[in-house]
Amino acid sequence: MRTIEHWIGGGATRAGSTRTAPVWNPATGEQQAEVLLAEPVDVDLAVSTAAKAFESWSQTSLTKRTNVLFAFRELVARHARELAEIIADEHGKVVSDALGEVQRGLEVVEFACGIPHLLKGDYSDQVSTGVDVFSFREPLGVVAGITPFNFPVMVPMWMHPVAIACGNAFVLKPSERDPSASLLVAKLWAEAGLPEGVFTVLNGDKTAVDALLDHPDVAAVSFVGSTPIARYIHQRASANGKRVQALGGAKNHAVVLPDADLDFASDHLVAAAMGSAGERCMAISAAVAVGTGADQLVDAVAAKAKAVRVGPGRDEASEMGPVVTAAARDRITGYVDSGERQGARVAVDGRGLVVPGHEDGFFVGPTVLDHVTPSMEVYRDEIFGPVLSVVRADDVDEAIALINANPYGNGTAIFTGSGEAARRFQRGVKVGMIGINVPIPVPMAYYSFGGWKDSLFGQSHVHGPEGIAFYTRAKVVTSRWPRVDHPIAASYHFPTT
Ligand code: NAD
Repeated sequence: MRTIEHWIGGGATRAGSTRTAPVWNPATGEQQAEVLLAEPVDVDLAVSTAAKAFESWSQTSLTKRTNVLFAFRELVARHARELAEIIADEHGKVVSDALGEVQRGLEVVEFACGIPHLLKGDYSDQVSTGVDVFSFREPLGVVAGITPFNFPVMVPMWMHPVAIACGNAFVLKPSERDPSASLLVAKLWAEAGLPEGVFTVLNGDKTAVDALLDHPDVAAVSFVGSTPIARYIHQRASANGKRVQALGGAKNHAVVLPDADLDFASDHLVAAAMGSAGERCMAISAAVAVGTGADQLVDAVAAKAKAVRVGPGRDEASEMGPVVTAAARDRITGYVDSGERQGARVAVDGRGLVVPGHEDGFFVGPTVLDHVTPSMEVYRDEIFGPVLSVVRADDVDEAIALINANPYGNGTAIFTGSGEAARRFQRGVKVGMIGINVPIPVPMAYYSFGGWKDSLFGQSHVHGPEGIAFYTRAKVVTSRWPRVDHPIAASYHFPTT
């Protein structure tokens, strides 16, 4: 059995870990490896190694840091296929989708390559006679990232390229369900010339996370995962005086107005609901059919959902792979059962799907539930599987009210031919990321990514300008260089001129 280790101080190591967790191949249902689970003593080692590395990395010139980032960018691009295949094997998503994930992560590295520009401060000349004021930003120290299973390369890359470019040392605690890609990323950082200890991978579970949250030398925590854990991370790390950004779960609605192109909308709805088996924080899980055309929309969506080719992630013919674990599969099908019990109509049923040759894989087929109401569990909870619930609304204002009554506020989309309706929607919804005829509106790396309400705890979104602000703190310097031959007398009033 292959053992997946940590990466501390420039190499793979078991450190003091003895506990392990299984890593499955979701397409076959077999265990393919075991991952070490760090103990508090391993966290101490990782953080002290990172703290030592921070001392010199934070003093390294912008030019040298930028050179490392450009080299890392080239290496990630060169190893994109290898990373995608590792993702497909452990997460289950299809390789083409995994390649897209690597590409979106790479875009954050490219953003971080512009760090000399991004870290420029302000300068005000002669604010008072002979006095200038300027500002600059400094890194925080050791910062930690705790990430979910669903994007094992992209979500960590929302964090570490930016944190490292800013001069921090970064300790990544990836998901224990698909940890291998992070080890390859660590090797690529090393090959790019990043000094030992600046990037660390610490595999583990709650024990490792809690030790990071409590460690006095961890200055900031970035978290992405489910809402209950995001809330917990925010509370515990904040109570320990750390800076925290904690991104949580989602229930993303797509509103389809009667004037939308039905073929376009149903195509995009199905792709956004079923892509990556619905295991995306920006997946569309609720469609809001507005007006009298709802039945037509459901028919179109159902026909397309039935046509999705489900199979192993490594098979190029597959459009959708398995879900991550047997427990995830059982949870998802349990939700479909509950929706049916509570009165939803199962328009497309993915329960019990068997993929020939992969009978033990963790497969759930695309599922469409119609006549879902806001009181049903399938609507209230994040299912995180290939299940699209269709609710109905009379007009766009009712759709906006429905979205705003939902506790999550990550992403949402509207399909319409009306600019007026789209504008009313973009201004009216209490949601962080909005798509207009775009079903998964993930912002580009040079904007920041984040939701509202129960989809984000803390003030800061990730990457883009907010990422730079999160991983640095500002200094403002007021300076005067008086002429020796013109001494300025001190005064007892507040200086104003
Ligand atoms: P999760 O919350 O179970 O796990 C996330 C991380 O927290 C993992 O590293 C895990 O080891 C750790 N963790 C789990 N339980 C913990 C506990 N009790 N104490 C301390 N740490 C703990 O999430 P997941 O199942 O890996 O990922 C799916 C979730 O992530 C979904 O809810 C999805 O919406 C969300 N997500 C959100 C975004 C976003 O940008 N808002 C992006 C991706 C995923």
